[in-house]
Amino acid sequence: MSMLEPEVTCIAPDTWCISEFRLVNAFLLAGRDKAVLIDTGCGIADLSRIVAALTDKPFFVLLTHGHADHTGGLIRLPGIQTYVGPEDRDMNRKMPCDNRFRRMYIEYRVDFRFPGEGHKQALLDMLPPDPGIVKFEDFLPLSEGMHFDLGGRTLQAVHTPGHSEGSYCFLDSATDILFSGDTVNNSIILMRQPDNDLRLVAQYRETLKKLWDMSDRYALLAIGHDGSTVDKQLVKDYLDLTDGLLKGSIQGSYEESGFRKGDVARLGLAELWYQCDA
Ligand SMILES: [Zn+2]
Repeated sequence: MSMLEPEVTCIAPDTWCISEFRLVNAFLLAGRDKAVLIDTGCGIADLSRIVAALTDKPFFVLLTHGHADHTGGLIRLPGIQTYVGPEDRDMNRKMPCDNRFRRMYIEYRVDFRFPGEGHKQALLDMLPPDPGIVKFEDFLPLSEGMHFDLGGRTLQAVHTPGHSEGSYCFLDSATDILFSGDTVNNSIILMRQPDNDLRLVAQYRETLKKLWDMSDRYALLAIGHDGSTVDKQLVKDYLDLTDGLLKGSIQGSYEESGFRKGDVARLGLAELWYQCDA
């Protein structure tokens, strides 16, 4: 038996951050009638056991996007109703959430995000034997402005393309938190574009403008990686950074850091890998 446990932090009433060994976050929100799990980690931790210890309400899943490190935990949650941005619905064809992915993720991320003697092996030992792959076919589609009523508490879906085409953030009526996934966190990745075209930066800038325009509705961001919540000022930092990149007043440079390689630019607390190779 491993001594390692995922870290669970209460970040607001009936609202928990479940950190999967500091690799990736999931968030559990409970209302009067229902609960929702926002993202599911990559499937190292047994999320069904963790959720059951926190709430006895029936729950469903909202995905901030289709990347395997946010969806892989669904393998531990068979039959749970799950919503994803329709543009990310074929993502598991490119990057299937299987144990091969989980082993690679542990191999490349643990030293950087959860360093410690023996952690890698302990996490590898936790993987469920041959769990198969998470199937996206049954997922229900999110759309802009969709509301999810938990009973006395509502979540609103906001389409936020950039990090992925089908990325969504979720605005919570009961707290002052925007659940921002990998759309806004401490280090954002946009994949390198052919000829270093800035179209993706421009699309991401539109997303940030939209989020900043509604910033009177939240104070904190609950982020997909590294820590649990940050001040909403981070949205403004990314907005100013993408503005600078598009106008040419900010230029990034090539770096390799941890598991990331590519062109990166920084402003305030924002770090944007805007032409990221890996
Ligand atoms: Zn991602």
